Amino acid sequence: MEETHIGWIGLGNMGIPMAEQLIKAGYQLSVYNRSQDKTETLTKLGASICSSPKKIFDNTDVVIIMVSDDEAIRHIFTNEQGLLNSKSSGKVIINMSTVSPAVSIEMAQMCREKGNFYLDAPVSGSVKQAETGTLVIMVGGEEKPYQSVKPILEKLGKLVMHIGDVGTGNNAKLAINSLLALYAQGLAETILFANDKGVKPEDLLNLINNAAIGNIFTKIKGDAILNDNFKAAFALKHIVKDLKLAQAEGLNSPLAQTALKTFTNAEEQFGEEDIISVVKAIKR
Ligand code: NAP
Repeated sequence: MEETHIGWIGLGNMGIPMAEQLIKAGYQLSVYNRSQDKTETLTKLGASICSSPKKIFDNTDVVIIMVSDDEAIRHIFTNEQGLLNSKSSGKVIINMSTVSPAVSIEMAQMCREKGNFYLDAPVSGSVKQAETGTLVIMVGGEEKPYQSVKPILEKLGKLVMHIGDVGTGNNAKLAINSLLALYAQGLAETILFANDKGVKPEDLLNLINNAAIGNIFTKIKGDAILNDNFKAAFALKHIVKDLKLAQAEGLNSPLAQTALKTFTNAEEQFGEEDIISVVKAIKR
């Protein structure tokens, strides 16, 4: 059994398998989720439940957060039962959600004022990589707290990289997700175009996946299209959030603008479905 007691906040599509990895690795885990029903999978594996972020912070050594967006982060840090209302100090909070660098810098400052440390550590990879501990993790923040939690992050990712000050991890993640949006739209348009010309999607995907242009993304999302499986691994609404965050950081290229427009148009109907449901929006 590892000695560090970890507090986990956020049990969505990513949070559940990531938290499970840490239990499997032998860590003691306490969990908090806004909707309590999602804690059941973890309690079955031995995690205990805390009723607020503040209680998580009071009762654990390191806190990891995996929630939707800036608004969720502000709520978790600053509400009445939030992390910052705890008197604990000397602890590390790791925010693995994809959020703005600005919210990271703001929360890091508030943590510092209370004698705690904040790291932004967003991830690349989706549910499959979360289930196998093979995410790619990019970390912003001070070196010393980073070194202290690196062994934990290494249980979640195949690559853990410290790349700079607070917010740098978030900027790297926004850059990567801009490419993800282009991949998703590109794959969808390519399949639809070929299909219009009489090339079956399964044949086209077989060609792509055996060519230099194929990759894990074209394999997984290609299979999803073929099987009509649009259940969210990475919800389409999250890529709209990420493209907006990237735009706010200054990414305004023609491709990025087009992707934002495409995914925003798709969001109303397909926001809760997987990113690759953009194929249905484009087809429409
Ligand atoms: P998700 O399935 O939509 O889960 C979101 C989580 O955030 C849930 O636990 C939700 O609680 C919580 N939450 C939302 N608003 C909240 C609020 N105001 N206060 C407290 N908790 C709140 O999201 P996900 O797919 O796990 O993604 C989590 C983060 O990782 C996002 O930033 C996403 O962009 C990023 N990410 C996702 C993937 C992926 O493939 N899914 C990959 C890389 C990065 P409830 O259960 O109560 O709703």
